[in-house]
Amino acid sequence: MKITIGKAPDNDLVADEAQVSRHHACLYRTDDGAYMLEDLQSTNGTFVNGVQIVRKRVTQADRICLGDAYETSLEAILKAGNDYSEEFARLKPVYDEYIREKIRIQSSNQFKTRLFQALPFAIPGIIGVLIGFAGKGSPTWFAVSLLITVCAPVIGIYFGARQSAKIPEQLQALTNQFKIDYVCPKCGTFLGEIPWESLKNKKHCPVPTCRARWSED
Ligand SMILES: [Zn+2]
Repeated sequence: MKITIGKAPDNDLVADEAQVSRHHACLYRTDDGAYMLEDLQSTNGTFVNGVQIVRKRVTQADRICLGDAYETSLEAILKAGNDYSEEFARLKPVYDEYIREKIRIQSSNQFKTRLFQALPFAIPGIIGVLIGFAGKGSPTWFAVSLLITVCAPVIGIYFGARQSAKIPEQLQALTNQFKIDYVCPKCGTFLGEIPWESLKNKKHCPVPTCRARWSED
């Protein structure tokens, strides 16, 4: 994509300044992702950090001047061209982390839930055997053993149910944060649970009025 700068209204960045030519300069991205600023044979020249250029790689740190008076920056030019590719790239780890965390919550809870539910069924058997040895057929010990056998699964199921109830709570908190972080860098609209790669292939913000771009057209 090419972003044009100049005094004419058909430029992406319109610079209404006497020393700026109608189509003064343009910015584009090279194959290796660098930004190249090019002078379009302007009357008063294009300068990077005070040095006149014809074509030069520029970064966020460079001071860009059109003629003597009009100063701008790479960031300002990119914003004028609706190029949000750098900000968009930072959303990839946000999406990856969300998916990783979601799977972690679900699997760890499933394990704990099953553990809580399974343990009580195993414990009474063990206790029953121990009490059988210790009590030597005493009716009191037999009653205690029976009570544990009945109660333990109930308690286990209760804790298991409580554990599984935590899943929606934790997932809700995770989703809420994701909705704050996974947004269009320009208009702030939540991008949905759409994988980052799919959004990248769409090349621009799904909101038609936003016009933010994050990949070559
Ligand atoms: Zn947007």
